Amino acid sequence: MSVTKNKIAKNLKAIRLNIADAAAHAGRLPDEVTIIAVTKSVDIETIKNCIDAGLTDLAESRTQQLAERAQEISAALSRRRSDTGIRPRWHMIGHLQRNKVKQTLESADCIHSVDSLRLAEEIDERAEQMDKVADVLLQINCSKEAQKFGVAVGAALHLGEMICSLKNLRLLGMMTMAAETDDPETTRPIFTRLRELFEEMQKEKIGGEDFRLLSMGMSQDYQVAVQEGATVLRIGSALFNS
Ligand SMILES: *Cc1c(COP(=O)(O)O)cnc(C)c1O
Repeated sequence: MSVTKNKIAKNLKAIRLNIADAAAHAGRLPDEVTIIAVTKSVDIETIKNCIDAGLTDLAESRTQQLAERAQEISAALSRRRSDTGIRPRWHMIGHLQRNKVKQTLESADCIHSVDSLRLAEEIDERAEQMDKVADVLLQINCSKEAQKFGVAVGAALHLGEMICSLKNLRLLGMMTMAAETDDPETTRPIFTRLRELFEEMQKEKIGGEDFRLLSMGMSQDYQVAVQEGATVLRIGSALFNS
């Protein structure tokens, strides 16, 4: 799918207004919220248009596609006559298999989908070999019926502690994905649960100062997510619809 710069700018403006509303409603500041553009269903041209619209946090849900696009975009930006110095940050938001960890670390700046110790250990080992520290979020399954991936709420604290003991990982926060729904209100209890867990982890000093990202909310439910404390929104269709 291809979406023009104007269309993206228009959609982004509406989304920002909605975020400001939701933030005001919750006594929060809109600047506390970062929008990540989920580009999995649009073409390279559209990704460039996102960057030109000021969206520099970009996400993909598959390793292969993320790697290819990160490379293409980086090449395109460096070909531009006037280099603005802007470099996108790529987020891996889909389920990650251990055999894809190396490739993911080569192109992603942050992995949102860490949900097991085995995966965390693989990331740690690969990051060590690459002499880097991997930024990760813990993916939580807040509604067992609706979600395939993510660690159960009851196991999150322990896994968080274990991740923090791995020296090539930096735990930046948590992520959850709600089920598809026509009524965003049905998602509210899930977001409330994740925020409570987030606060509990902070109280236990898990991840220390680095632990500050709450990645929840997509096109269907981002306003509710902001009301419930989200600091990161992953938005695709609402940016690209016509
Ligand atoms: C696709 C996807 C999104 C964005 O979904 P939209 O409904 O298009 O906003 C967010 N998070 C994850 C994990 C996704 O796979």
